[in-house]
Amino acid sequence: PSDAAGLKALDRDHYLHPFTDFKALGDEGSRLITAADGIYIEDDGGRRFLDAMAGLWCVNLGYGRQELVDAASRQLQQLPYYNSFFKTTNPPAAELAETLCGLAPDHINRVFFTGSGSEANDTALRMVRRYWALEGQPEKQWIIGRDNAYHGSTVAGMSLGGMAPMQAQGGPCVPGITHIRQPYWFDEGRDMSPEAFGKVCADALEARIQALGPDKVAAFIAEPVQGAGGAIIPPESYWPAIKEVLSRHDILLVVDEVICGFGRLGEWFGSVHYDLAPDLMSVAKGLSSGYLPIGGVLVGDRVARTLIDDGGEFHHGFTYSGHPTCAAVALENLRLMAAEGVVEQVRRVTGPYLAKHWKALERHPLIGEARSLGLIGALEIVADKAAGTHFDKTLKAGETCREICFEFGLVMRSVGDTMIISPPLVITEAQIDELIALATAALDETARRLQA
Ligand code: PLP
Repeated sequence: PSDAAGLKALDRDHYLHPFTDFKALGDEGSRLITAADGIYIEDDGGRRFLDAMAGLWCVNLGYGRQELVDAASRQLQQLPYYNSFFKTTNPPAAELAETLCGLAPDHINRVFFTGSGSEANDTALRMVRRYWALEGQPEKQWIIGRDNAYHGSTVAGMSLGGMAPMQAQGGPCVPGITHIRQPYWFDEGRDMSPEAFGKVCADALEARIQALGPDKVAAFIAEPVQGAGGAIIPPESYWPAIKEVLSRHDILLVVDEVICGFGRLGEWFGSVHYDLAPDLMSVAKGLSSGYLPIGGVLVGDRVARTLIDDGGEFHHGFTYSGHPTCAAVALENLRLMAAEGVVEQVRRVTGPYLAKHWKALERHPLIGEARSLGLIGALEIVADKAAGTHFDKTLKAGETCREICFEFGLVMRSVGDTMIISPPLVITEAQIDELIALATAALDETARRLQA
């Protein structure tokens, strides 16, 4: 069928959606998204929504860029696919590898390509363990991640992440991974200053390392700003203290840049914003602005040297590692972002503009905290503004707000009672005004419904 009702019925009966409670879908089923342009998506009825989530944190350049379509089309005709296993490569993959290393901090000069962010984190995990084995320290096996982190849905991604509902389903996690607290000041640290809380969270890393034995810890993995966990922006004291602990114990740092990479925080990588100098960085999403699936691990010289010089063959790789068409689109995406100064625009103009106007939402009776950095932001919905307490979970305040946002023509994501934005990086100041006006209207309506 080509009619919307028919398609929705097919979807409801056959398509197992990610992270979706099927029984809760109801008779109406899913929204059918059929088109998009700039920062707006459109459904089958022609309704437009301001996409403040950039798809799923990925459409950094916005929708409808003909240059990306042309890059894919040219490459599909020239060489749609070939592998990189047989001592073979292809032009866009080679160029993309060089371009990425050029954008990354100086000590990063190698890339391993994957098809997704989950695969990138799986790859990083295997590289870390291989690295320490090659260094003659195979007992350095433990990986420390953070509670509530999302690093993907493969078994390794889920294990590196700290999402309890995921880990409760689908069988055991990869062994040798443990998690420490997240630097979530609003929910967990308000009895002290953000500064002090950042240090307390870094102390938790030190304590876990001591409990495991410093010579048994291989790596720490984290996002610069935790995305799917709730757009958790760490206190300024957090990363310097974490870095100090890791360097004292010679523990590798793996930074998951799947969301923060490619301009989200106003730098090409979140690691640059926080001066992290990571050993490995996993990337995906914004690398191609989500137009085609591609990810990778950017490998620092320390690990690359050992893997290459001492390692011989690394028995690891994906059919779609260095996929020519995905690489061609990613390359064009990065070229456009650089040519149009998209990252600088976030750093100098739209990030600060959002920060100023977003913060003003803290005056709303429903909002306990409004935080943002670059073009990632969160709102904490609270029942009691003075106490900063959330609504009873059964009220599903966040989900209610998300649905009302859709009614008002805005896509905001809810994580519990935290509302999140991560709009396309090409959003203008006028469009930020529009986003905030829609969010305010949706919050007013949410307050009315929650109180009814
Ligand atoms: N890492 C982070 C921080 C993510 O947000 C995601 C996806 O949302 C992933 C990894 C997994 O990426 P993918 O869905 O491409 O496998």
